[in-house]
Amino acid sequence: MMRRSMALAGLLGAVAVLLTAGILAAWMWPEKNISAQESSMKQGSVSQGLEESSRLEESLQQADSIPLKAEPDVAADYSGWAQAENGNWFYYRTGEKATGWIQLGTVWYLLSDNGAMQTGWQWYAGNWYYMDNSGAMRTGWVNDSSKWYYMDCSGAMMKGFIHDGNGWYYLDAEGVWQENYTDAEVTSSGRMIRIENGVAYVDGILIANKKYPLPKDYAPGRLTDEVQAALAEMQQAAAADGLNLYVVSGYRSYEYQGQLYQNYVKRDGQAAADRYSARPGYSEHQTGLAFDLNSTSNSFAGTPEAKWLAAHAQEYGFIIRYPKGKENVTGYQYEPWHLRYLGKEIAQAVYDSGLCLEEYLGIASYYTNE
Ligand SMILES: [Zn+2]
Repeated sequence: MMRRSMALAGLLGAVAVLLTAGILAAWMWPEKNISAQESSMKQGSVSQGLEESSRLEESLQQADSIPLKAEPDVAADYSGWAQAENGNWFYYRTGEKATGWIQLGTVWYLLSDNGAMQTGWQWYAGNWYYMDNSGAMRTGWVNDSSKWYYMDCSGAMMKGFIHDGNGWYYLDAEGVWQENYTDAEVTSSGRMIRIENGVAYVDGILIANKKYPLPKDYAPGRLTDEVQAALAEMQQAAAADGLNLYVVSGYRSYEYQGQLYQNYVKRDGQAAADRYSARPGYSEHQTGLAFDLNSTSNSFAGTPEAKWLAAHAQEYGFIIRYPKGKENVTGYQYEPWHLRYLGKEIAQAVYDSGLCLEEYLGIASYYTNE
């Protein structure tokens, strides 16, 4: 990945010297297309970005047919890019200068309050963004002054341990990639993150969520002995209260999760599937520490079994992993049936805190690459 990124960055640099690729690409698009894609305020999950390579290819193809001189007459109804004498670029919509974030096609641009297109590092709403020479917001690996940075799929610069879909990397407090860094990172709640054999642990707690995936070959094969013993104890206690708890989905391999996820994507589309199903490598079911009980239908929520679990699971070492109202933190919809084993002490502490596991540990859960 690093090597590929370096090659791409080199290519990008070369192209940027030749022409302001993104601007010209936007300039080239038919008016209808531009207005249909008109900007909206940038939000957390902006994300659709073409692969850098195809974006480049597109720009290069279009470059052949575009004159480099771009100083259009800004008439009252003019729409498109225009360059001022001082070199600043502006984007007009029917004669009005655009400001803030705008998206043209799949590319994001940041315009200042007076409409000037920004390049280089930009501080916005608590995050750093990197706009290349053509003004296009970068995602993924960015090389600047021989340092590597990683921008998530919304363009925000990342810090700490990140997984780019291929491997783990460590970014220091300035976002700079540190080679061979294996020491611990401290989370926002002061806990230690460590990557061991490709698995992320926070204060020794194994994590599998949208930001911290498992290696493909992480395969305990079934619920661990400790989990099975705790589950049996919980089932007995529930039975004593007249309730029947049974596992409908336990351990899942990387491959099986991949099949499930693909089927959901086919059925509901990726955005919807991502709300309730994990991509392969990102599922907690692959840990052998999590399972679904009784019914994975929303109607399970009001049942006596669900109420019992919500009140007692922690006594047996489990938590309701994706609580109600925490989707923007856990990355998943409310799942009253999905339990995660933490051991009695930690499960009780998480329960008492009223927080979901991500909040308790001070970590995030969102896909950093598309
Ligand atoms: Zn589940």
